[in-house]
Amino acid sequence: MKRYFIGLQSLTQSQLDAWVIQAQIPARSGGKLPDYIPGLAEAQPDWLAVHIRNVNGDIYASGDMTLSFPLMSAVKPFVLLYLLEQLGAERVFDQVGMLPSDRPFNSLAQLRADEGFPRNPMLNSGAIALMSLLPGTDGLSRCENLRQWLNEKADCHLVLDELILESVRSLRNETNIAIAREIADAGYLQASVAVTIDTYNQLCCLAGTVGDLASLGMLLVPFGDRVLPENCRIVKALMTTCGLYESSGSFAVQVGLPTKSGVSGALLSVVPGEGAIACYSPPIDAAGNSVAGLFLLEQLARNLHLSVF
Ligand code: GLU
Repeated sequence: MKRYFIGLQSLTQSQLDAWVIQAQIPARSGGKLPDYIPGLAEAQPDWLAVHIRNVNGDIYASGDMTLSFPLMSAVKPFVLLYLLEQLGAERVFDQVGMLPSDRPFNSLAQLRADEGFPRNPMLNSGAIALMSLLPGTDGLSRCENLRQWLNEKADCHLVLDELILESVRSLRNETNIAIAREIADAGYLQASVAVTIDTYNQLCCLAGTVGDLASLGMLLVPFGDRVLPENCRIVKALMTTCGLYESSGSFAVQVGLPTKSGVSGALLSVVPGEGAIACYSPPIDAAGNSVAGLFLLEQLARNLHLSVF
């Protein structure tokens, strides 16, 4: 009789270890390090770590658990969650839309086509618009407020990676600045362009290990009174439709889990009701998603039947 393995709890450590070894192959052949943030280009292409946690508290980990990396865009779902908790959905969606996009993560053309109203919170434009709503007087205090909230709620240890922040600031990101100006001109920015961009840069440089990223992911698998289940539902829906930028649609078919990537090679998936999968491997594909991370998620989803669809 054929035996079916269903759900995260059916994962075995040896299975995970084997997939982590296999994941090195596509990472080496199909991925590149981003060059527009010099500090990210200094990462080693063979760095790889995965940390999986389920609601029973079981942990499966493979690779180098000590690697610390900046979250980059993997922080975006948590900026959204924080603002939903603080301000409510009505206020948040006055500021940003819910539509997917088939353009790249930093597309100014998409924003212009939408007359300065950011399409969704997973794109740079949407995240930048949301940064302007965060409480605090400057980039540092806004980032610190959110960092403390996340560490407390998710029981993790995010820190601001000062070296990467210096590196981000060393090459002025004209596209992100143009995005912020476009949003401001359309009347959707609630703080100055300078403070908003500084907040965005600092939040992208919040760093931790895959263990920390998995803890953040567990915030979206609600239990107790940490965050409102309704807000988790909104965040997971937008991760599913928009989290991997222009690859979101094909990823929904191939894997089918709410997921968010960062250009550092961070990749976080939530398995609703079950747990969280956090991966880190720096080589990314053309859309900005970790190649080894995508490979691992595909193996996990296919073999353990994790798709939500
Ligand atoms: N800081 C990066 C940028 O704005 C984040 C992008 C990403 O991680 O996808 O370009």
